[in-house]
Amino acid sequence: MALPKRDIDLIALKALRRRYGVVYPKGQVIFREGEASRQFFIVLQGRIEITRQLPDVDGSGPGRQVLVTLGPGDFFGEMAAFTGEPRSSDAIVVEDASLLYFNERTALELLRTSPQFALGLIQTLCDRIRNNNLQLAEMRVEVERLRRLLPVQDSAPEMPPAATATGQPAVAAGAPDGAAVASDIDRPARPLDEETFALKDLTCPVCRKTFPFPIVRSKHIRVIGRDTDFREVHGGVNPLHYAIGVCPQCLYAAFPEDFAPLEPTVVNMLRDDELRRRAAFGGFDFSGARDASLAAQSYELALRCATLRRAGPDRRARLHHARAWIAREMQDAEAERGYLGQSLADYQYRLEHDHAMNADTEGALTYLLGDLSLRLGKPEEALNWLRAAIDHDSLKRKPALMRVARERLEEARLSARQTQMSEA
Ligand SMILES: [Zn+2]
Repeated sequence: MALPKRDIDLIALKALRRRYGVVYPKGQVIFREGEASRQFFIVLQGRIEITRQLPDVDGSGPGRQVLVTLGPGDFFGEMAAFTGEPRSSDAIVVEDASLLYFNERTALELLRTSPQFALGLIQTLCDRIRNNNLQLAEMRVEVERLRRLLPVQDSAPEMPPAATATGQPAVAAGAPDGAAVASDIDRPARPLDEETFALKDLTCPVCRKTFPFPIVRSKHIRVIGRDTDFREVHGGVNPLHYAIGVCPQCLYAAFPEDFAPLEPTVVNMLRDDELRRRAAFGGFDFSGARDASLAAQSYELALRCATLRRAGPDRRARLHHARAWIAREMQDAEAERGYLGQSLADYQYRLEHDHAMNADTEGALTYLLGDLSLRLGKPEEALNWLRAAIDHDSLKRKPALMRVARERLEEARLSARQTQMSEA
């Protein structure tokens, strides 16, 4: 797993040998796994092996795994130095070595005085993360391959039949190659029932794969309530869970309208990201029934693709807001706050920059910014937005929204007063 060497200016570093240099003979252990030492080393000469003890699985004694062999220009120990965590591996000299060593304080000094080294360090750490992600993705593919070779599936009772009654292939059969490590993401998809869902073909703008996208039939949509930020509460199946199309082949995810052709540069960016999407989301099967937590994953994936696509604030706002609604459904107040905060920023940006917006949208958005501010514990800002919304011409034509806006204004006043009292 040797990584391409980054230019960390070895010659300049050699000048530091007098102050920070240390020489170790072959065989010397520099640190051991679990130790609390916090120095960080740069190799000027010689070779160092970074190793880890393997568990004693067959009673023949513990083995050792060499994670990497380091030579001139490489560095190690930076994780413990910068995070304060115990050492995660052993470092042993395998060829007489001349090293520079830094503690947390002098390392920071080094970063400050040699930006070239700081850049090299950051680049190397990025390489490592990328490398780890690729290995993880490859491992997942391998685990899935081995899993398919097993004669009996461990999740057999939950497996759907080979084909549904209508002859449609079972959803699990189309599972992507990068599926599943942990058991909670390893479940085969529950098939969708045709009575509730209509299937529409979507073609992926990244890999050209055509796949069925489920749409909840309108007679099965039962709205039993509405929150003040326009979230609909559903009796039966929740259409919000099925709003994101996910390509089973490359894991491109978006609202169906964002499956239109994309610029070639954007397609390349999304292609370059495919293995990383697989590493993070390859274990989920989005082709079947989606509960709230699977729906949450589909939005996470869509947000990732939206960033790569450089989607505008309108899209980002809708994705963040819908993701917040899923968090509300899951009663995860912290996640809801986080996503509401992001959607508020996106909506506000849109309101301030989209000059072609029609009056109805502008009025509704002004109201929404008030509602979200109040939800996020910012009553003064809520008051400003809600007052502006109530004065907006478009709300005068929408009595239901006007009524809710007035109620929210009252709540914002109360909340602002309480804040002032508690601060007094
Ligand atoms: Zn695709």
